[in-house]
Amino acid sequence: SHAYQHKNIAVFGLGKSGMATARQLHLGAAHVVVWDDSEARRKAAEDAGLTVQDLIGSNWPEAEALILSPGVPLTHPLPHPVVDLAKKAGAAVIGDVEVFLNEKEAGLLIGVTGTNGKSTTSALIHHLLKSAGKPTALGGNIGTPVMDLPELPEDGTYVLELSSYQLDLTPSWRADVAILLNITPDHLDRHGDMQGYAAVKKRIFQHQIESGVAIINIDDPLCEHIASCLAIHGDGKLVPISTESPVAGGVSVIDGRLEDQTVSDQSWTMDISTIGSLRGRHNWQNAAAAVAAARSVSLTPAEIREGLQSFGGLAHRMEEVGRIGKILFINDSKATNAEAAEKALVSFKNIFWIAGGREKAGGITSLEPHFNRIREAFLIGEAADHFANTLEGKVSYRKCRDLNEAVHTAADAAGKAMGELAVVLLSPAAASFDQFTSFEARGDAFRDAVARLVGEEIT
Ligand code: ADP
Repeated sequence: SHAYQHKNIAVFGLGKSGMATARQLHLGAAHVVVWDDSEARRKAAEDAGLTVQDLIGSNWPEAEALILSPGVPLTHPLPHPVVDLAKKAGAAVIGDVEVFLNEKEAGLLIGVTGTNGKSTTSALIHHLLKSAGKPTALGGNIGTPVMDLPELPEDGTYVLELSSYQLDLTPSWRADVAILLNITPDHLDRHGDMQGYAAVKKRIFQHQIESGVAIINIDDPLCEHIASCLAIHGDGKLVPISTESPVAGGVSVIDGRLEDQTVSDQSWTMDISTIGSLRGRHNWQNAAAAVAAARSVSLTPAEIREGLQSFGGLAHRMEEVGRIGKILFINDSKATNAEAAEKALVSFKNIFWIAGGREKAGGITSLEPHFNRIREAFLIGEAADHFANTLEGKVSYRKCRDLNEAVHTAADAAGKAMGELAVVLLSPAAASFDQFTSFEARGDAFRDAVARLVGEEIT
């Protein structure tokens, strides 16, 4: 579809998604002008044949819409000046997902949002569909920008991961299946307060309640409240999920046992506690949501069973990257704060913990209830001294020069530990930027170090 043909569109922010949007609109014969504060990005846009124009300068173009990158403040703490300029000129301020929806011709839409677990849940739904042989595409906040997704046939399903920023910029959002995983205090700087944040998250369900399926984690008080406020009517359906207690009409995972009661008189159960890529209670929540979504688009229990078994998980999120005898190596580099690291600590025992990096507010004091799972800590980066203070007298620790030394020292210590399975766990509870360019680079370095160790072991 060429909903934007011959229309004047401004694109502000030329990251991966901004560039994809500008390129696709340009191909669809829209009149596109673009801007980014980075000269390198402007150059790349020019090389791609796009028209670069300063959107904060005085002559705002006669544009119908401003496509804003999700990283640019829309409201809080202060709107970016470009937003004011666009509004004064009467242009709609939208994001790439809005453009995608207006251009999309076929296919069902599954949207996933929440503070944590979005990527894992989206990837799992996509995997379940794919392994059942259904045409499907995954994108949005994960991997491919929406504007670069392939066209799907009528029976295809788009699985979109959406941040609250993206929802903010998608006024006509309407999903066939929408999932709200959880809402915890995160990104509050942007949305002002919990209420504001919840309001945005609630938008995942907008326009959808007459005919769509709303999947909500009812263990979370804010989500439960949102569920109770949703007036579902017509063919709309609310599917609750829980990891606390079985839910009529929904999906639960209690102690690793999944129970799907979404289709009355066709309930089924499955033990998922042994699936390595779905370790931990937080992943059971993600699995419950994904199963509910898969059922909503008519996958059979047999298809879902098979898909859950073959799910490989996502890199850097409690990812198993190697094994030497009774030592298991786990890469949880994505855990850049204490809350995320807690998820990993409670999922294992007999832990040789590699932690540290650029410290976040609060440090690791909140993790004290789980210190008994840690056999020894190996501290790296800027946070090493402060983390050591917190551990002092409670957990024995060593400070290591870098990640490589930490891996070797931890593996050595784990090898000397007798008995049960030992886990060398990189779950840093800190940002990576003191030593790496990203959490991905940190996780890759861990994986490489482990691969070398495994190699030495074999030769
Ligand atoms: P997101 O895409 O929302 O950032 P991910 O699926 O990438 O979420 O998971 C990131 C981290 O968040 C994981 O490593 C884990 O520590 C934690 N996490 C994952 N799922 C959940 C969940 N359902 N509830 C709470 N924390 C979770």
